[in-house]
Amino acid sequence: MFWEKYSYSQIKSKVFEALSKNTNYRTEKILGIPGTFLDTEIFYDDAAFLKDAPFLSTLIANPNHIGVHTFGDEHEDFFSGTHEIEKDLIKICSEEIFEAEPGSYDGYVASGGTEANIEALWIYRNFYTKNYNATLNEIAVVYSADTHYSIPKALDLLNLQGVEIMVDPVSREILIKDFEKKIEEALSKGVKYFIINMNMSTTMFGSVDDIDKITSFLDLLHINYKLHVDGAYGGFIYPFTKSGSSYTFKNRNISSFSIDGHKMLQAPYGTGIFLIRKGYLKYVCTNEAGYVKGKDFTLCGSRSGANAVCVWMILRIHGSAGWRVKMHHLIDRTTFLCEKLNELNIQYFRNPDLNIVTIRANCISDTLAKKYHLVPDNHLRPEWYKIVVMSHVKQGIIDQFLAELKNEELINTK
Ligand SMILES: *Cc1c(COP(=O)(O)O)cnc(C)c1O
Repeated sequence: MFWEKYSYSQIKSKVFEALSKNTNYRTEKILGIPGTFLDTEIFYDDAAFLKDAPFLSTLIANPNHIGVHTFGDEHEDFFSGTHEIEKDLIKICSEEIFEAEPGSYDGYVASGGTEANIEALWIYRNFYTKNYNATLNEIAVVYSADTHYSIPKALDLLNLQGVEIMVDPVSREILIKDFEKKIEEALSKGVKYFIINMNMSTTMFGSVDDIDKITSFLDLLHINYKLHVDGAYGGFIYPFTKSGSSYTFKNRNISSFSIDGHKMLQAPYGTGIFLIRKGYLKYVCTNEAGYVKGKDFTLCGSRSGANAVCVWMILRIHGSAGWRVKMHHLIDRTTFLCEKLNELNIQYFRNPDLNIVTIRANCISDTLAKKYHLVPDNHLRPEWYKIVVMSHVKQGIIDQFLAELKNEELINTK
């Protein structure tokens, strides 16, 4: 995995160069687009700092990245400068982070992991209905009980049935026995086509589904399936902390990934990234998108080019080596926290390659959990509270929390 680190001034000049290639609402004769620069009462464009602020300048220029820019010659050409930046971003994510062969993928910056997950399920549903004449009750979506709620949301929207697989209450691993049983049940009910969602880190636990176990069972039974990876949480950390993972495009069983820029990458909200092998986006081509040159293959339609630019800027300012170091710092801090929890005999779940620590609710008072804003698995009757060691979770606050936790234990054991 390698992409070059750029200096801030290199990044600045590349973004301004891209903006100069975009059609400019202020200086050119643009009569046909229902878009323009941002409202000038709020976003005045003569602010002196803008010349040093490539992201804000992009935001104000307001390029629309509607559609997908990784394929075809037919494109909206109004904003080709910043489209190129998005292409470089999708290239870094696909080729460097997920080891795709050059040019073997498509992708775009979606509104978030939710949209990217819906997009994936939408594509595979249509893949089966169009190619196999499948009816909706012949298709099922399979996912673990720890899966993000965006998957059930997608099922509701797309009219698909779900098969939820139990996980082990301690290891959070998919229970293979339950998986086998439920697949066989589905087959006996007439399901012929499966859409598999694998979590490359769940939101609540940081657990990573054992994809090889799942796919070898499916292959053994000659099941017809498509597999999507939900890396909304883990996408910008797990590939940097886990070596030799099966979660790459080298794994032929995987067709697509969702990865959120607005979680581990610290990009603004609105930066979910969807990546998929070539040949699939056509199943969600909206041919009625007549006024969009090159048609639309996304769920969201219009979207801000500034979002793509800022994710690209973050990846470029660190470079691959810098990002890896940054993620390893988070892992080290998480490991420190876990070592202290061990000393205190506190029960928790933690995947060693991730920065989430999920503590058994009966090991901590609700008051302390609330004081440190730990997030419960559910708000009615919490069984777990999680700590996510993000950039703002510094050593000092971890120390304070641990001291209070130790105090609680002393009182309880009196
Ligand atoms: C956050 C998250 C999502 C949804 O992402 P949004 O960006 O909030 O739409 C989906 N899956 C997982 C695993 C997540 O952590």
